[in-house]
Amino acid sequence: MSASAHPDVMDKLVSLCKRRGFVFQSSEIYGGTGSVWDYGPLGVELKKNLKERWWTSMVRLRDDVEGLDAAILMHPKVWEASGHVAGFTDPLVDCKVCKGRFRADKLEDARCPQKPSRQPGQAEACQLTEPRLFNLMFKTFMGPVEESASTIYLRPETAQGIFVNFLNVQQSCRQKVPFGIAQIGKAFRNEITPGNFIFRTREFEQMEMQFFVEPGTDMEHFETWKADRLAWHHSIGLSPARLQYHQHAGSELAHYARAAFDINFDFGGTLGFQEIEGIHNRGDFDLSQHQQASGKKLEYFDQQANKRYLPYVIETSVGADRTTLAVLVNGYREESVAGEDEGRVVLGLHPALAPIKAAVFPLTKKDGQPEMATKLADELRRAFNTDYDATGSIGKRYRRQDEVGTPFCVTIDSESASDQSVTIRERDSLAQVRVAMNQVRGWVQERIAL
Ligand code: ATP
Repeated sequence: MSASAHPDVMDKLVSLCKRRGFVFQSSEIYGGTGSVWDYGPLGVELKKNLKERWWTSMVRLRDDVEGLDAAILMHPKVWEASGHVAGFTDPLVDCKVCKGRFRADKLEDARCPQKPSRQPGQAEACQLTEPRLFNLMFKTFMGPVEESASTIYLRPETAQGIFVNFLNVQQSCRQKVPFGIAQIGKAFRNEITPGNFIFRTREFEQMEMQFFVEPGTDMEHFETWKADRLAWHHSIGLSPARLQYHQHAGSELAHYARAAFDINFDFGGTLGFQEIEGIHNRGDFDLSQHQQASGKKLEYFDQQANKRYLPYVIETSVGADRTTLAVLVNGYREESVAGEDEGRVVLGLHPALAPIKAAVFPLTKKDGQPEMATKLADELRRAFNTDYDATGSIGKRYRRQDEVGTPFCVTIDSESASDQSVTIRERDSLAQVRVAMNQVRGWVQERIAL
């Protein structure tokens, strides 16, 4: 963790997210489920847009990456072969005094519950136990009778679904190495110290891509993906100043990894720079483990060179929830408005990610304005998510939309019937332009596709 120059906006965001329907605590009426969250009407749109943006750039726009949606439940041997049964652990320490439980490798990110100015173990009274290893996989049973049924795991990452389908995808799509397989899906980890809202949760979504390459060409592909992935984070509007690479070195580097970099985002406050994506050169570790454990050949046959080999894998793995949080933190701002006493809260979301793209308002309830506005909103809804709002002053309606990141507000006024035009007000610049009613859809579409 490194210090941040940005303020801590987490409490304000958590409250905004609940109030405006982005994120709710899971099972809230029962007191909540530990570190599990539900996405409300606006949150589900935001996260969907983020996933769509990733899918478009990773799969649709590329000839050399195929999509996949593998099941969450997999054969238990997958997790033995992958090393997760034996080694997917975090070091856990308990404090005998406050009964707190902490990750031994992340003590610097934690606070002593009795002395929050110190990290666990640094206050005089702290008595930490020796670290013990705790497996993060959730276990359940497959089959009707618990005792005779086999133990099965909720996947802790989506990647293994890709490795075991490597040849299925390669052969069915007639892909040649180098090529990749991408998927978006749920993963589950029984985290020791979850927290910071949707930053670290026990159920989350990953967007992962494994790129299969010829050994020897791996570092070249690694560097390309490293640069491409940072560029993608810029493309969704994350501020370049809040993004940096973090190289894994020494004990941080997983035993199978030949090279690993994280992309860290500055969440502000004490959380500071934290990983949102990992880019790893996994060598042929996974394919060779699965080949050995399953007894099935997973080699690729290069017809042109007439040779067989196990490809190396470059992996890019990004959390959909953690990146959604990054997008919210990055976009949140409070500002004053010239000529107005009251300031405004704005979510400066990239238009492609904004849950509502346009809001349509009738300025008054007279002159058939609500009817015209409803008709326009219905037309816009066919192309993108649109809101209709006729209540409160126009200023209040703008504020409601600013706070949830709507990039464009469209107002029907007393002139609209005669000139068939509307006023579009842009969220960030506050600029207003007059646009012909039949051009609004195209005008907005052009600007949200950026
Ligand atoms: P950390 O060190 O924060 O536990 P990790 O190195 O274990 O993360 P990876 O296994 O590389 O994470 O997972 C890839 C991505 O999945 C992370 O960059 C993050 O965005 C996301 N992710 C991992 N664990 C969680 C979690 N518990 N909650 C939300 N997102 C997660």
